[in-house]
Amino acid sequence: MTTVTNLGFPRIGPRRELKHALESYWRGESSAEQLQQTARSLRQRHWKLQRDAGADVVPSNDFSYYDQVLDTAVLVDAIPERYRALYDANPLDGYFALARGVQRDGIDLHALEMTKWFDTNYHYLVPELHADQPFRLRGDKPVAEYLEAREQGLQARPVLLGPVSFLLLSKTVDGSDRLALLDRLLPVYAELLAKLKQAGAEWVQIDEPCLVLDQDGDDHAAYRKAYTTLAAGERPKLLLATYFGALGDNLALVASLPVDGLHVDLVRAPGQLDAVLDALGESKLLSVGVVDGRNVWRTDLDQALKLVRRAHERIGKRLLLAPSCSLLHVPVDASVETALPAELHAWLAFARQKLEELRLLADAAKGLVHAYDALDAARATFDTRRHSAQVHRPAVATRLASVDARALSRQSAYPQRRTAQQRRLGLPLLPTTTIGSFPQTHEVREARARFKSGKLSEADYDAFLAAETERCVRFQEDIGIDVLVHGEFERNDMVEYFGEQLDGFAFTKLGWVQSYGSRCVKPPIIFGDVQRPAPMTVRWSRYAQSLTDRPMKGMLTGPVTVLQWSFVRDDQPRSVTCRQIALALRDEVQDLEAAGIGVIQIDEPALREGLPLRRSDWAEYLDWAVESFRLAASGVADQTQIHTHMCYSEFNDIIEAVAAMDADVISIETSRSRMELLDAFVRFHYPNEIGPGVYDIHSPRVPELGEMAELLEKAARVLKPEQLWVNPDCGLKTRGWAEVRAALTTMVEAAQRMRESLAVEA
Ligand code: GLN
Ligand code: ZN
Repeated sequence: MTTVTNLGFPRIGPRRELKHALESYWRGESSAEQLQQTARSLRQRHWKLQRDAGADVVPSNDFSYYDQVLDTAVLVDAIPERYRALYDANPLDGYFALARGVQRDGIDLHALEMTKWFDTNYHYLVPELHADQPFRLRGDKPVAEYLEAREQGLQARPVLLGPVSFLLLSKTVDGSDRLALLDRLLPVYAELLAKLKQAGAEWVQIDEPCLVLDQDGDDHAAYRKAYTTLAAGERPKLLLATYFGALGDNLALVASLPVDGLHVDLVRAPGQLDAVLDALGESKLLSVGVVDGRNVWRTDLDQALKLVRRAHERIGKRLLLAPSCSLLHVPVDASVETALPAELHAWLAFARQKLEELRLLADAAKGLVHAYDALDAARATFDTRRHSAQVHRPAVATRLASVDARALSRQSAYPQRRTAQQRRLGLPLLPTTTIGSFPQTHEVREARARFKSGKLSEADYDAFLAAETERCVRFQEDIGIDVLVHGEFERNDMVEYFGEQLDGFAFTKLGWVQSYGSRCVKPPIIFGDVQRPAPMTVRWSRYAQSLTDRPMKGMLTGPVTVLQWSFVRDDQPRSVTCRQIALALRDEVQDLEAAGIGVIQIDEPALREGLPLRRSDWAEYLDWAVESFRLAASGVADQTQIHTHMCYSEFNDIIEAVAAMDADVISIETSRSRMELLDAFVRFHYPNEIGPGVYDIHSPRVPELGEMAELLEKAARVLKPEQLWVNPDCGLKTRGWAEVRAALTTMVEAAQRMRESLAVEA
């Protein structure tokens, strides 16, 4: 019999129950017992849901109060010294302190750093280790949760993050070699495995997702040592789980490891099946991930069944069926999304539906008759997507096909454009601007909520937005900003706002996925060809420009960012969907220009995070990402100034691509790294203009004049003054007006001083 298994389930709850319980506990409004009770009942509910959906084996220890990497760190006692006393006194609060930092009673401890989990939008906490790091087994979470599942009568398979990936995902504060800690870490894993065995666990799923990355000889040696050591002890059988890509050049190593089973991702990398089967050997189990754990679409069951049958022919009973990866990255249940158009609703599969699909595949592989009927029905639904007029809009394809190379370049090269723009805009040296959004205050959010629920009329909402916008424009004029923004008060979210106005996008009611800790996002679903029925931002930009003689900057979210922060259709390459979005944005850019907007910013904060996991795939991605940006941006006259914005560090890898975007001005995040980031731009001789952020908007702290002036001086030392803009790091929507007022006033003053000192030098 083919077994249906799962690698992990969303823990936040179908209605974000865990989020609410966590935040109430953090506010001191509920007790630790209440929080633990909510967690327990969520786990039990989710296990039952998985079993009812058809899973034979459910994961345990996939639950987390905050993050599974942090769980692993505290499990092996890798608790940074500054937190130790706090953690020892109260492990639950210590755990949250590690995740969120502490600022009270004169204690000021910074949280662990957070970073993206591979190429997902989930963020994990980066464990902090050092050369003398001791490890020991602390607590019994994996054992306790295994027993909890078993008490419910379930066959559970505990999930652990493997020792090598754990180390590779950590950082050492002293710059020492992380893998050198493996010898000290392995006994802790061995002890834990023995305990799980004694508790009755037959199998353990041990995740080594780093095996889909480029790994070198040292990494390989570490895996070899880890699994030879762990295999030798008392332990359950080990299923080594890999996901998010192909094993590729790591396959031979993986096949040689003395584990009892292997999980591979056949959604991202269906082509690896034969090689994996060839390498598997005579006794290992193979878990095939044939249902997409990263996206929300119903599976092409015919395709999946082909893979399952091929594997089944070769290894028979040694085959397990699974989603490609943990279902953490999809919402819980699509059946509640009844407000969606019926056709679209039928195409969606969230966690629950994905397990049902696996059940169906397993039954069909066994030749069960009922499965064939169900398969026919699923096939019919699936096929409607291939032919739906909601998905396929011939006009979009026709237009895209007619785009020629000229559409990808501005009329003139940057130096000519610069002259034309200077003539039109008449900006001073070191022009000041902001990144777009101004504080989304309680009033702004409340007005939007009341408008959406019908309590505020459209006319009143518009009047409210107009007043907010005007106040924002006057404020910028008063303090002397050179290039103004309208403030983005009409926008809930920088992707949602555009998605709501474009054809081809849909929005769920409860399609939450965890981003980090209690934070969830509800990504738009791009299901069809994208097209723009009407201008999206022209009205507010034009209105804002009508209030002032200074240049007003139009504000758009770039094609790659829209793509990156959505669930994207899987029936055509992502690059095609990206170009469609770009074409819609190109029309918007041209409409803004025609409405008299002379400066237009196209934000691409997600460009870097779209980079594929393997370096060999980077060039192809960067090609279409840059091309999409250029398609969106290039349809304007020379004197129209195009800006872009990226709020992250690490430009070294992608600086050429960033330059190839050929924006007239780019604003980047630099204040937290004290301008170190500029290095990439300097080394590369970045030719166009740059606004290195001089003010860290992620902190409520208002920087002093001296700090901003110093950052500006640093920047002016390495860039030509004509290249330099003065702006904050990112949008101001999360800040309060008091801070913003103080910080921007200071920023303008810092720019002013810098101009004066440059004038003296000249
Ligand atoms: N224009 C957006 C804002 O100011 C940019 C946000 C971002 O970079 N994440 O909010
Ligand atoms: Zn930003």
